[in-house]
Amino acid sequence: MTKSFRTLDDVNLKGKRVLLRVDLNVPMEGGRVTDATRLERVAPTITEISDKGGKVILLAHFGRPKGRDPKESLKPVAEALSKVIKRPVAFAEDCIGDAAATAVAALKDGDILCLENTRFHKEEEKNDAGFVAELAKLGDIWVNDAFSAAHRAHASTEGLGHKLPAYAGRTMQAELDALGKALEAPTKPVIAIIGGAKVSTKIDLLENLVNKVDALVIGGGMANTFLHAQGVAVGKSLAEKDLAATALRIMEKANAANCAIILPVDAVVANQFAANAPSHAYGLDAIPADGMILDVGPQSIARIHAAIDDAATLVWNGPLGAFELTPFDRGTMVSAKHAAERTRAKKLISVAGGGDTVAALNQAGVAGDFSYVSTAGGAFLEWMEGKPLPGAKF
Ligand code: AMP
Repeated sequence: MTKSFRTLDDVNLKGKRVLLRVDLNVPMEGGRVTDATRLERVAPTITEISDKGGKVILLAHFGRPKGRDPKESLKPVAEALSKVIKRPVAFAEDCIGDAAATAVAALKDGDILCLENTRFHKEEEKNDAGFVAELAKLGDIWVNDAFSAAHRAHASTEGLGHKLPAYAGRTMQAELDALGKALEAPTKPVIAIIGGAKVSTKIDLLENLVNKVDALVIGGGMANTFLHAQGVAVGKSLAEKDLAATALRIMEKANAANCAIILPVDAVVANQFAANAPSHAYGLDAIPADGMILDVGPQSIARIHAAIDDAATLVWNGPLGAFELTPFDRGTMVSAKHAAERTRAKKLISVAGGGDTVAALNQAGVAGDFSYVSTAGGAFLEWMEGKPLPGAKF
C-alpha cells in the first residue's frame, strides 16, 4: 500500500531543528514515573532523528495544569526518558521565550532537548496563533508522534502543522497504517465487536460502523438497551431505556447498509454486581425480573466465535460483559483468545483500542497477539466515529 502521508522517510533530517510532538503523559507517583510504556513507544522516533543528525526538540503536555505548576513539570519525565533511550536529554524551563531559544541554540546535531509542559501556557489549548508562532520559531520542521493527542486541535498538536513542514513520526505512522488497514481499506469481510456500559457514549461510533463493516457484534451493558428495544424483558440489567428509539434507528441503518447486527441470544445473570455473585445462563425469554445481565451467555459466545471465523478483519472496542468481575469476564476473555488464535493463524487482522479494551486484552494475556492494539483512548474512539483527526494531517 502506498503511503498517503509524509513520514521521516520524506525529509533530510541532518542539521534540522525538529520540533517533535510526543506523548509524555506517563503515570507518576511521588515524582517518579511508574509506567514507562509511553516513553518506550516514542523512543524509536527520537533515536532515529538523533541518529540521522537532527536536533530533537521535544514538545509535550503533562496533566491538566492551570498555568505554571511545578507538580506538573516535565523535568522528571525527561530524566526518565533519558534512562529509557540511554542518551542525555537536556531540559528547558519553558517551551517558548528566552529559556527555550537559548537551549535550542546550544544544540548540536543529534542532541535531544525536552521543553517544559506546553500546557503551562493557556494558549496551547486555544491553538493561539501568537503562541504557535513562538513555538514555530524554534524549529525547521514539525514531526507529530502523539497519535493519542491527534483528536485535539491544540497549538503543538495541530497549529504547528500550518506553520512548518509536517511529518508523521514512526509511532503515528504505525498507528495510521494499522487503522487504515482496519477500516479505510480493509480486507473484507470486516467485523466490529462493540461492548461497554452504555449506548449513549457510542451512538456516533455505531452509526459510523454500520456503514463500514459487514457485521457488528454488540455486547456488554449496551446490548441490553438493544434487547429492551426489541421487547426483551431485561430485568434489573443496566439499560438506557430512553434510548430504545436510537437503538432501533441504528438497527434500521445497519439493515439498509447490509451490515448484520449480532446481538446476544442468551445471557449470564446475577442478582448483584459483584465478583463471584451466584449466576446462571438464561435464554432471552427467561431473564429473571430481579436479575442483572452481566455477561453474554455460552450460545452468544459460540455465535461471536463463528462471526469472527467468517471475518478477515476485526475491529474491537469495549468489553462484552462486566470483565472486572469473575466469572463475568468469561465472554470477553474467551472471545479475545479466539480472535488472538485466528490472528496467530494469519486468518485475521485484528485491531483493538480504548482503555478498558486494552485492560481486557491484557487480562486475557493476548494483547501481544493482536495485529495492533491502540492505547490512544479518545483519539481511537474519534477515529472509530469517522471523525477527521486534526493532528494527523501530513
Ligand atoms: P465502556 O467504558 O463504555 O467501554 O464500558 C466499560 C464498562 O462496561 C466496564 O467497566 C464493564 O464492567 C461495563 N459493563 C460491560 N458489560 C456490562 C453489563 N452487562 N452490565 C453492567 N456493566 C457492564
